[in-house]
Amino acid sequence: MQSLVDIAPTIAKILHISMPKRDGAAIPEVINELDKCSKLILIIADGLGLSIYERYKHYFNLRGMVFKCRGVSMHTTPAIATILTGLHPENHRVFETQDTYKSEGISVVELASMQGIKSAVIMEKKGACSFRGSVDLVVEIEEEDAVQYDYIVKNALIRQIQEVSFTVAHFRILDRFYHSNGNTETAVEILSSNLKDIAACSKNAGVMICGDHPSHNEKNIDVPLIAFSTIPVELR
Ligand SMILES: [Zn+2]
Repeated sequence: MQSLVDIAPTIAKILHISMPKRDGAAIPEVINELDKCSKLILIIADGLGLSIYERYKHYFNLRGMVFKCRGVSMHTTPAIATILTGLHPENHRVFETQDTYKSEGISVVELASMQGIKSAVIMEKKGACSFRGSVDLVVEIEEEDAVQYDYIVKNALIRQIQEVSFTVAHFRILDRFYHSNGNTETAVEILSSNLKDIAACSKNAGVMICGDHPSHNEKNIDVPLIAFSTIPVELR
């Protein structure tokens, strides 16, 4: 079974960048599928646990591979730090948002920028601003409304897709709906429709979509990783 620590090493391999510290290992099937893509997009879907994914699979009919990934935390900040560094929380030690400012730049998106791969981060302001100065393009989103926030992230991603080679974007609607007692199926419907818009607008791109943690009442900590290429099958 894969783990969240495997995502960053997989990205490093696809982008041909070096990543000296990591706890995980690259996933060969994902590398095979996405290696020929000229762009890479990593979408972190907040609160997308494996059980929610399986329950509403029909909404996510994005062709591609799906892996079960062992989660590392029930909280957003340490889980996202693991996704981006390939390190377990006890090794990256980013537990609260303020820790991200103290942490050294070891995330795959900072390494990519440093090693000449033009990269972008699109996330809410508090998380995004820790990447200022170490990632080529940082889009900081300030928006309270969950539906509107995801919509802004999607549009920002589509707008800058031609300019960069690697993008990390954080979608929040599912987790926000859990906390506000919103309807989960409605959130899944909105999330999956945004993901389909991105897939449709990203030519020649590799897309990886993963959850950070499941909803807080789940016992199973696992999350899905979906990977697909937007290169038409006949051109591969
Ligand atoms: Zn989260």
